[in-house]
Amino acid sequence: MTDIDSTHPDSTRPETRAVHAGREDFIALGIHAPPIDLSTTYPVADLAAGTASFDALVGGDASARNPIYARLHNPTVARVERALATLEGTEACVAYASGMAAITALLLASRARGAHMLVVRPLYGTSDHLFASGLAGLEAEFVEAHEVAARRRPDTALIFIETPANPTLDLVDIRAVVAAAGDVPVAVDSTFATPILQRPFELGASYVVHSATKFLGGHGDVIAGIVCCSEANAKPLRQVRAATGGLLHPLAAYLLHRGLPTLALRVERAQANAIELARRLAAHPAVECVFFPGHGTVRNAHLATTQMRGPGCLIAFELRDGYIAAARTMQRVALMTPAVSLGSVDTLIQHPAGLTHRVLDDATRDRCGITPGLLRLSVGIEHVDDLWADLEQALRQDSVVVREAA
Ligand SMILES: *Cc1c(COP(=O)(O)O)cnc(C)c1O
Repeated sequence: MTDIDSTHPDSTRPETRAVHAGREDFIALGIHAPPIDLSTTYPVADLAAGTASFDALVGGDASARNPIYARLHNPTVARVERALATLEGTEACVAYASGMAAITALLLASRARGAHMLVVRPLYGTSDHLFASGLAGLEAEFVEAHEVAARRRPDTALIFIETPANPTLDLVDIRAVVAAAGDVPVAVDSTFATPILQRPFELGASYVVHSATKFLGGHGDVIAGIVCCSEANAKPLRQVRAATGGLLHPLAAYLLHRGLPTLALRVERAQANAIELARRLAAHPAVECVFFPGHGTVRNAHLATTQMRGPGCLIAFELRDGYIAAARTMQRVALMTPAVSLGSVDTLIQHPAGLTHRVLDDATRDRCGITPGLLRLSVGIEHVDDLWADLEQALRQDSVVVREAA
């Protein structure tokens, strides 16, 4: 898909941007790796200049002559923010301690526009819980994507969607939601897609949210969250961060930046593996149904090749023998890691109803198709035949045991 690349102001391609973003000044600085600045405070020898810097940062500016205090600004964090803004094609990026801290900051910053938000399910379980609980001060109304125009109110501050959605991999048409939203900003949680496969800002979204813990970090060793948006929208987000303190630590920022150069390579390999595993799973006798963008089993499957540059690296699949078969499969995988989270170099397998989507009530879980026999696979970059051998032995033992029991 070329159309999402053509509008980017930087003429280099995403693969190249992933390698070089946030490193443009290295030759001038005479360095080859990002410096890590761990200062919590910065000397203020010139008080008048320090006051001006303080005012600028508390007001939400991206930088000032003096960082003053690490809750207001950190150069290592600012560097990875610039890299991620470049990758998403936005003016700005604001990084937080986690994906949930990023989403919380977005809700707090949106509160000034009104007290109501529209949300399309399904979603990451904790996002669903945060919205439904009203903890961050917005009243969430859950709607279908086609209901957005009708349910929008004068006090609607934000429309929040996740695509591909967790865990069913339903796709939501970003352009259609933006068109229905009128002047209400649309936020897209694009964690499952990465900026390699999908760039919501170029489709009209106002905010692109990521749990950078997942593919962006990519190695299962850093928790981080980001919101990418215009500079005007970034100011209130920085104000919230400075006031509430959900900061990304500079060491975590360094690790996040460390993962970016291989982002395109990792996503391409994992996606190729996922395409093959989804095909093999769909033909496996223990498998009732495979949910994978492009397979026709997910909502708006066609968007996998128009809105996205491919189906992505996650597969959900339902086992014929339900919960027992799912639990046994998680116990028997030997190469794959039986664990929540996703987007790491290694393949992870988890049970949404028992783990990530536990916080939803039973009715919502049922409505979203999160059944007891559903497993979610985050495909890594291993050799696909090794992954299949592992999955096949885990599934085969299932059917043996179930047959014996019957
Ligand atoms: C993991 C995840 C989050 C939450 O991010 P954390 O970094 O765990 O706080 C939000 N949305 C999606 C889609 C996720 O996968």
